[in-house]
Amino acid sequence: MALSTLVIASGNAGKIREFGQLLGDLALEIRPMPEGLEVEETGSTFAENARLKAVAVAQATGCWALADDSGLSVAALGGAPGVQSARYANTDAARIARLLQEVNAIHRAAQERGEPHDRSACFTAALAVADPRGAVVLEVEGICPGEILETPRGSGGFGYDPIFFVPEAGLSFAEMDKATKGRIGHRGRAFSLLEPQLKALLTQQTA
Ligand code: IMP
Repeated sequence: MALSTLVIASGNAGKIREFGQLLGDLALEIRPMPEGLEVEETGSTFAENARLKAVAVAQATGCWALADDSGLSVAALGGAPGVQSARYANTDAARIARLLQEVNAIHRAAQERGEPHDRSACFTAALAVADPRGAVVLEVEGICPGEILETPRGSGGFGYDPIFFVPEAGLSFAEMDKATKGRIGHRGRAFSLLEPQLKALLTQQTA
């Protein structure tokens, strides 16, 4: 079936709106996924979870589907919270408190031993597009490297934004305006890789 409708494999209204804006220039009808459809994120990588969601929603709807999976990986925590980012605690404030407590404790212990400490981290966003038969046809990953701050900074954004500092911008995600985060953030970087591939798919169809 030709790519004319794209179902966003997410129940999150904010993500659906964000993707609608990002995809605004393409000749595509954007639809939310059917209510009540739940896909378990059982993968061990962001890419695996994005694939799982795109395939399940494409098969359930018989339409093309776009899914994303994202999260924060902290070097000193061996990559945690990673794919567990949303489930690390019950609220954004509790997730930030847990992460800071764990990273700061490791930092203090390293300082006491006179050893250097690594506060590096990265946000990853994986995107996958599946065709109506459930075959994954496009996959991209955007990464934004940064550092975990010792205390939160800024009031914008959501999730872990106030404790994620991006040296390239000299700002935390929560201190950035939307355009800056859109340009250097993980989702924006992933989308800028996906967009030309989606455009090529659309062009192939009309050729
Ligand atoms: P998911 O992609 O909906 O599974 O979300 C993963 C989790 O990672 C979110 O609930 C947030 O806690 C976190 N996360 C993903 N992207 C961002 C971001 O841009 N800023 C802050 N936190 C994020």
